[in-house]
Amino acid sequence: MRAKLIVGNWKMNGSRAGNATLLAEIAAGLEDAPAACAVCVPSPYLQQCEEVLSGTPISWGAQDVSVHGFGAFTGEVCARMLSEFDCRYVIVGHSERRAYHMESSDMVASKALAVLQEGMTPIVCVGETLEQREAGETEAVVGAQLDAVLEKLDADAVAKIVVAYEPVWAIGTGKNATPEMAQAVHAHLRSRIAVRNAEAAQCIAILYGGSMKPENAQALLAQPDIDGGLIGGAALKAQEFLGIIHAAK
Ligand code: PEP
Repeated sequence: MRAKLIVGNWKMNGSRAGNATLLAEIAAGLEDAPAACAVCVPSPYLQQCEEVLSGTPISWGAQDVSVHGFGAFTGEVCARMLSEFDCRYVIVGHSERRAYHMESSDMVASKALAVLQEGMTPIVCVGETLEQREAGETEAVVGAQLDAVLEKLDADAVAKIVVAYEPVWAIGTGKNATPEMAQAVHAHLRSRIAVRNAEAAQCIAILYGGSMKPENAQALLAQPDIDGGLIGGAALKAQEFLGIIHAAK
């Protein structure tokens, strides 16, 4: 059986004082937690995470990474730098990066590879827009986004990724995919991974993201192919984040 994983995506939110309170409250509520958990924070707060979370059950990570290594790329942060802060996870291909920063699936694949090469786990986000869903293109869209990454990886590396299915129309909108809708897409993604590495397909965590809250988490997390959640808004409130973690029973 796959263990459940709940990851918070703080996006561009936080402050040193607010983070300290939020992380302490999450850590205090984790006793008997039925799921592993992590927070993906803005890069300036990685050092704070390393200081505060080392020795706790909470892992930490970043929300993006450069496709490049060290060099003349002003404003970029490379995978080696993130690994120096003991990041476990790096989100790649979030729909906000695809939409606002014109990231192609090929670029997302290069980022996933860069993360793996530094010994961290990429959380590869895929998801369709409302127009694409209404046109019946969901499986084709998310399948192509995932295939672009899988094509760059050898069979062993495939086993080391986490996938997050995040329908774009559900992110930050309060509209979540129904458990059945999400399960169907997760099963499709797992079948796509199985083509490359059947064994890995059974082990890889496929997270759901898109307006997951304590109220809807239990039904989503009960689906056989939903192995956890990537949480935006609700990850900024300790009680909501903990509510989702404890819904993973
Ligand atoms: C996200 O941005 O990854 C996300 C899932 O956001 P929210 O939970 O706020 O919909």
